[in-house]
Amino acid sequence: MNVGILGGGQLARMLAQAGNSLGMESVYFCPESDCPAAPYARQNQAAYDDIDAAGKLLDWADVVTYEFENIPVPLVRFFEEKGNLYPSSGALAVSCDRLKEKTLFNTLGIETARFAQVDSSDDLAKAVGSIGLPSILKTRSGGYDGKGQSVLRAPEDVAGAFEELGQVPCILESMVPFDSELSVIAARSTTGEKVFYPVSENHHREGILRLSLSRENSPLQSAAQKMIQKILDELDYVGVLALELFQVGDKLYANEMAPRVHNSGHWTIEGACSSQFENHMRAVCGMPLGNVTVDRPTAMINIIGTLPESGLVKEVPGAVLHLYDKAPRLGRKLGHITLRQTASTAGEHNNDIIRLLRICGEEDLACMLSGKE
Ligand code: AMP
Repeated sequence: MNVGILGGGQLARMLAQAGNSLGMESVYFCPESDCPAAPYARQNQAAYDDIDAAGKLLDWADVVTYEFENIPVPLVRFFEEKGNLYPSSGALAVSCDRLKEKTLFNTLGIETARFAQVDSSDDLAKAVGSIGLPSILKTRSGGYDGKGQSVLRAPEDVAGAFEELGQVPCILESMVPFDSELSVIAARSTTGEKVFYPVSENHHREGILRLSLSRENSPLQSAAQKMIQKILDELDYVGVLALELFQVGDKLYANEMAPRVHNSGHWTIEGACSSQFENHMRAVCGMPLGNVTVDRPTAMINIIGTLPESGLVKEVPGAVLHLYDKAPRLGRKLGHITLRQTASTAGEHNNDIIRLLRICGEEDLACMLSGKE
């Protein structure tokens, strides 16, 4: 199979790498040069509105997919109408708009934070009146890693908040007093076959995911699975889908979905028989899905901003360093480390995660995990 991937970042890199192992060839399409995907795929370097270049990819590819949501919808529709593209532009359109997304969740009986549409500062005042404080004002589209949102704690935070976000369409959400943040990742094939990975427990700092822990025996697995299954079926979805959740006691609230492989699923490369990347490529290529059995807990630590000393990482038994060939820059995802517990490391697993967190400069999370022991 020839697979076209829109975008050339680390997700495209790991998709192409997984595809190579399945005998697929990939071409990634994006305007930038020196992309993380370069070692595993050829590039079709062009602007996202270059229809001639898109036509060349269409002629070559058996199927086209994408690695992130901010791909212009006309380009996605072009491939969908003239060739094969998964996940569908309909799924992409829902996930790019927080209002449509939360409305869909509620229609399917999936609970979310309370929310209201905000298109003006008057709307915001009314929404605060009904939802109350604290609450979060978010742009409906374009936000990522905590960008495009503003936490409103006190009445004085309300005035000017809509203007500060650029006076673009927004939603106001009630603040969910969550105990933890989870995500569930699933894949659905062209024949409707579905597989579900164990939920991940996710820890963020400054709006960026830092640590994911696979939770094989979570009592919330079945509830999380039911939620994502409804979305997969409703959208007749093909590919990997991630659903971010808030846990409050024994209840789950959906926050947002991503129609793609997800950072909180990077641990599946070492932690599951078939990774999320392999299963996305299988799904979009019309293949049966791979086995998602996970028999040992696995942790994933993101490398953000600066590279850790690789010698120190290698001293931690079983740690696997994945680097994306990106130049260090504040807040940039440069790679990740996975650590799968084995029979011989079981007693030390938590300490080894703490060690890796310290090596990656995540002192706060290291303290949090030490406290949990
Ligand atoms: P998002 O861009 O929606 O994924 O939000 C980024 C982060 O902000 C989440 O991972 C949460 O830590 C926090 N957050 C977002 N929405 C809410 C909410 N309604 N209640 C509490 N925390 C939230």
